[in-house]
Amino acid sequence: MNTLPWKNPQRANALHAALAQRILIIDGAMGTMIQRHELTEADYRGTRFANGFDALFAQEGHHHGPGCGCEGHDQRGNNDLLSLTRPDIISEIHRQYLQAGADLVETNTFNSTSISLADYRLQHLVRELNREGARLARAACDAIEAQTPTQPRFVIGVLGPTSRTASLSPDVNRPGFRAITFNELAEAYRESARGLIEGGADVLMVETVFDTLNAKAALFAIDDVFDEIGARLPVMISGTITDASGRTLSGQTAEAFWYSLRHVQPLAIGLNCALGAKDLRQHVDVLAQVADTYVSCHPNAGLPNAFGGYDETPEDMAEVLREFAQSGLINLVGGCCGTTPEHIHAIANIMRGLPPRVVPQLEDVA
Ligand SMILES: [Zn+2]
Ligand SMILES: [Zn+2]
Repeated sequence: MNTLPWKNPQRANALHAALAQRILIIDGAMGTMIQRHELTEADYRGTRFANGFDALFAQEGHHHGPGCGCEGHDQRGNNDLLSLTRPDIISEIHRQYLQAGADLVETNTFNSTSISLADYRLQHLVRELNREGARLARAACDAIEAQTPTQPRFVIGVLGPTSRTASLSPDVNRPGFRAITFNELAEAYRESARGLIEGGADVLMVETVFDTLNAKAALFAIDDVFDEIGARLPVMISGTITDASGRTLSGQTAEAFWYSLRHVQPLAIGLNCALGAKDLRQHVDVLAQVADTYVSCHPNAGLPNAFGGYDETPEDMAEVLREFAQSGLINLVGGCCGTTPEHIHAIANIMRGLPPRVVPQLEDVA
């Protein structure tokens, strides 16, 4: 176990104190809210990336110019880039979630690893995107905290799963092949974690874990960075169930997922995405029984419809989650794909006054 001191003891203690008192509210989807703006390629690029490459950066020895080969790279859909090119939009989304009742907001950094950014030829931006993503979330939290000083708001620095999986082959004809190694993932996550910490994250969350080996690489990297700076932040882990048999993509049940990561002693373990609240319930129930730490859950707004959208209303989703709370399953709750500030508002209202799950004192079986 990591025994380094907290990087910011006051905030870490405030978070622990809040968790002991009530169910904390995590924000909802970033992507769903960005979609509402119907942004164009030009919006994504802003002035700095107007030509499709970063005007402030070139590989050593390379000079950008007509025909240099980097112009015109598509950035539409690169939501994390908006932290640099449309920070107004990202800040406003954070503000809306905080106004809706979120205690914790997630940074706009889901794809800010060198692995995911390589798809946009912007892997050099890892540190900057993570730092700025955390800074925007921090500023939004600070602004609302100034109005309600007795209710601290926290920044969750998000480390996404990347599109590569370390424990499975993407090629059915070459089962031993891996598109990425543990060390490559760890190297990528180290740089992301450094940026999130520099930008002022209160917590780091390894999120939407579909491959436990990827999560282990992220957690290993986080520990390295804590050693580098001589201090640590609370860490949360949230997995995703990807098939009807109730397993992650790398084949684990929720229980196996917990036992393979519990040595990290995270602040919270949970599940998010892929399913709506109803279908996640049995798996959250398992975590609530086996995990001697806080349990989180941020489901999608139901299952995707025929158009890839999400239909579950704020009231319906909140009603399902009310039962989670009444059954003593959760300590933190929020929304993933398809959720909006309206969903978070409904969830926050319904959770008010409901007691948080009591963390069980389990005998050490390790
Ligand atoms: Zn160029
Ligand atoms: Zn999701």
